[in-house]
Amino acid sequence: MNPTISVIIPIYNEEKNIFNLYDRLTGVMQTLGETYEFIFVNDGSRDNSLALIKTLAQRDEKVKFINFSRNFGHQIAVSAGLDHTRGKAIVIIDADLQDPPELIIDLYKKMQEGYEVVYARRRKRVGESYLKLLTAKWFYRILANITSVEIPVDTGDFRIMSDKIVQVLRNMPERNKFLRGQISWAGFKQTYVEYDRAERAEGETGYTYRKMIRFALDGITSFSDFPLKVATMSGFAVSGIAFLVMLYALYSRFVTNDTVPGWTSTILSVLFLGGIQLISIGIIGEYISRISNNVRGRPLYIISDTNVNTQPAQVPAH
Ligand code: UDP
Ligand code: MG
Repeated sequence: MNPTISVIIPIYNEEKNIFNLYDRLTGVMQTLGETYEFIFVNDGSRDNSLALIKTLAQRDEKVKFINFSRNFGHQIAVSAGLDHTRGKAIVIIDADLQDPPELIIDLYKKMQEGYEVVYARRRKRVGESYLKLLTAKWFYRILANITSVEIPVDTGDFRIMSDKIVQVLRNMPERNKFLRGQISWAGFKQTYVEYDRAERAEGETGYTYRKMIRFALDGITSFSDFPLKVATMSGFAVSGIAFLVMLYALYSRFVTNDTVPGWTSTILSVLFLGGIQLISIGIIGEYISRISNNVRGRPLYIISDTNVNTQPAQVPAH
């Protein structure tokens, strides 16, 4: 029999949080009184997380695990979970207790009012670095401005959604996952519940700035062509200016005849044009690298061992 609720928990070096999380989640599920399963996706942890998850799985048949062959990244870990859920309502939650498990009760209740997605929107965030808060804030606002999909601001992946939405996600073949964007893109009735985001309970963030930048670029390139347009526009703008300068140069040469060799103007235009060109090529490169990544058609992740029924990883057919 399929459970009513599936909870997906991506795990990267969370040994200090796993038992605590499990206890709190179990408490929440008992309050709700529905059947459930937990799907722990171990994303190449280097600590003892896997052993702890397997211990839980032995004790409790509701605990499922998927163990990756290496670290594939948070979004892919969640996607692997989504590929293997059986529930009617699917929850995505971080393992570090920054997403309070108790909020699932509110999310679930709200869903009963007839929503396909209820996401948890952060009212406050504590215990994160100033730089992280600022970059996150900017990122969500810039993204909101340059995309036609309405991606909610100040919202992570902590949410509940119906199996209908999960089915849509499973059928989206793109490899550079930006799940919160894909879910917004899917449409249906969506709403949110507000909460205060807590500090990470134990351990350290698995999101290095490098991973954050890649994630941000995935979000932008998957949901906006605006950077490409900026490249084109700056090309036009610079060409316009160059044309005016050309007129001026001809004028000085043939009319006023004062063509003193101008080092400053030469070097400035060379540097400026060089800069614009490099930026534009870089932007195009970001899109092309994602195209080639999709075309290669490698599996999205590799499972080393698991106690769920696996079909082979869903590889897009093109
Ligand atoms: N995580 C993961 N793979 C990674 C990095 C993180 O599965 O490469 C998991 C991590 O264990 C946690 C969730 O994703 O459950 C969110 O990560 P984290 O708390 O480190 O990110 P932050 O909250 O600092 O943005
Ligand atoms: Mg966290």
